[in-house]
Amino acid sequence: MTPAAALTHGLSFDIEEAHHALNMWSVTPPETWDEQPTRVEAVTDRLLALLAEHDQRATFFVLGQVARRSPEVVHAIVKAGHELASHGSSHRMAGDLGPEGFAADIADARAQLQDLSGQPVEGFRASTFSIGRGTRWGLEAVAAAGHSWDSSVFPVVHDRYGDADFPHTPVHLDLPSGRALREYPLLTRPAFGKRWPAAGGGYLRLLPLALVEGALRRSAREQQPGVVYLHPWELDPGQPRHALGGLRTFRHYFGLRRVEGKLTRLLERHRFGPIGEIPVPQHARLDPSALPGGMTAA
Ligand SMILES: [Zn+2]
Repeated sequence: MTPAAALTHGLSFDIEEAHHALNMWSVTPPETWDEQPTRVEAVTDRLLALLAEHDQRATFFVLGQVARRSPEVVHAIVKAGHELASHGSSHRMAGDLGPEGFAADIADARAQLQDLSGQPVEGFRASTFSIGRGTRWGLEAVAAAGHSWDSSVFPVVHDRYGDADFPHTPVHLDLPSGRALREYPLLTRPAFGKRWPAAGGGYLRLLPLALVEGALRRSAREQQPGVVYLHPWELDPGQPRHALGGLRTFRHYFGLRRVEGKLTRLLERHRFGPIGEIPVPQHARLDPSALPGGMTAA
């Protein structure tokens, strides 16, 4: 292992079914979810076996919908020694829920996961990285729900999410309420004077692995852990196919067959751990209300 590869990066899985992904909602709207096939248990088991094989640990952000229907998934994750974190209850984006709805959604999910696991749930990730410019008020809600860290911010420009003004490395947030939160933004890489996503998920499917690995190595050289994510359905090429049309078909299905191989190579070549165990230097601090655009609800 090279010295650069010895730095521990954050590895995370957003535990949801394929039908929970926003791209799927036109064909599998929330009122049909209880009738949709469940595949998350089998894929998560395979994922846990793959991590055990490579002696690596990770954070699992479990959606409340999954915990309700498949509580065994939560037990398997905890039993295998990984970090359990919350992905909210409904998988609706923070901006769609609004401040009150979002607060209720994440409080429910945290209580549910704590009841199931018998342990405190420290970490949170919003559906579709939906805490960004215009929804930074979500950070207050995450802290108010009792979480001590968050990984919902993608510090890039994107059509659905993103906060290009946000730091791209882990930071202590000093919130206007006086509450504190550690934020672990998703991995990006610099090119052409901007930062681009490199964190896994769709990017691991769409980009050559070398670009993701290049971003991890660069972060390691800067002694800055990167945060990578995947969904179980991205490791499930056998999932039922729906006609989504154009860009959404591409975003959901492209590259599924290659993801397990790519993840295996990442596990072989880089050191990963749970996000909540990554230390954040004391001097890395931010009051997000001081960013351009502030923190107020639109
Ligand atoms: Zn999700």
